[in-house]
Amino acid sequence: MIEDTNESLAVETEVTQEQSKPTAPPPAQLSSDDFASYLEYRNKLDTIAKEIAGKYKTQIECRGGCSHCCGKTALCMPIEYAYLRWCYQQGRLQAPQTYAQGSCPLLSGNQCSILPERPLVCRVQGLPHWVRVGYSKGYRVTCPQNFKPAPSLESIPMEDFVDLEALNISLSRLNLTFCEQHGIKDASRKIPVQMIFDEEDALHPAPPQPPSDIKA
Ligand code: SF4
Repeated sequence: MIEDTNESLAVETEVTQEQSKPTAPPPAQLSSDDFASYLEYRNKLDTIAKEIAGKYKTQIECRGGCSHCCGKTALCMPIEYAYLRWCYQQGRLQAPQTYAQGSCPLLSGNQCSILPERPLVCRVQGLPHWVRVGYSKGYRVTCPQNFKPAPSLESIPMEDFVDLEALNISLSRLNLTFCEQHGIKDASRKIPVQMIFDEEDALHPAPPQPPSDIKA
């Protein structure tokens, strides 16, 4: 039983402006400890998502093979980019052979090619969502491809809607702390998820080389 999904989704993370900023290590030098808070939050989110899905299992038709929610490129904050790139460098993710066009490039044969490690927002796809910004009332929504027959929104208790704003705020706090700790200046940057497979690290690009025709 979920007591209060929105309370449960909140994470308190203190970010001090006084922290020293060490030189950012490339993701290959990171360890699982660097992602402990992110993974703890992800586990909590997975538990909540599983509980909600369990309550509506006769109505939810979201199954492997449906990619309705994967219509555009997933964008990651630096913490998720660094984590996914680290997973790739650990040999836990495989780059898809080809990138899909017109949908998230990581869709491969209608399946997410990084399913076990997919970003947080992708982990709550298919569940009832409460979409709001700040203190606005927002709106509640269920996926028309998924909930069949479509339920009246009033019949779903408020705690069974995933509060996307609470999720985003919590992820932003985790991201800010991670960026502070690793000297990443642009914490608000959004990185297309497929860039985890690029040769160059998006967070630590190689310094520009001088033109080859300049002689010493
Ligand atoms: S990362 Fe995976 S689950 Fe997320 S949008 Fe892309 S294909 Fe879909």
